[in-house]
Amino acid sequence: MKDLKNLQNLDVHQLAARQENLEGQTELGVFTRLMVDALPVSASQVVDWRVSCFQRTPVGERQAQDWLRLSANAVATQTCQSCLEPVDVQLAVDRVFRFVASEEEALRQDEEADEDVLVGAHDFNLFDLIEDELILALPFVARHGGCIDQYAGPDESEEVSEPSRPNPFAALQALKTKH
Ligand SMILES: [Zn+2]
Repeated sequence: MKDLKNLQNLDVHQLAARQENLEGQTELGVFTRLMVDALPVSASQVVDWRVSCFQRTPVGERQAQDWLRLSANAVATQTCQSCLEPVDVQLAVDRVFRFVASEEEALRQDEEADEDVLVGAHDFNLFDLIEDELILALPFVARHGGCIDQYAGPDESEEVSEPSRPNPFAALQALKTKH
């Protein structure tokens, strides 16, 4: 599964039904959207990713749902916004996704579900999903731990706003125990 083309054309329903796990290493440099603000990378810089597909049948329902858990790790190099020197940024992704049949369902259910809801497809683009999630994992401002925010005044404490994405594993755990 290391061939990139394979990642752009996956049948998630079949993968979930077979409970397949996929993993691989993909060169950081090929994630062109992720690399927009990053410094040039070497071929040895890779994204380690792992995908587990599975099905769950909600209590009281007959139809099994397709799920996918994605974890990915990488180190990107960006420019420190204080000293303008390169700074390594650790990117870590661990999220679960549930697949539904249509865009309308996905939009409606994404509001109320703890997990992310995606439209299932026979030609699902895992590469795009990995890239989207890595982009979301980028820091708002890249900065060395020891570098101070030159724009913050002495009385201004830096407000670190955590991305307010709900914990998807709570929902998954609930499903598992009911199962
Ligand atoms: Zn710095």
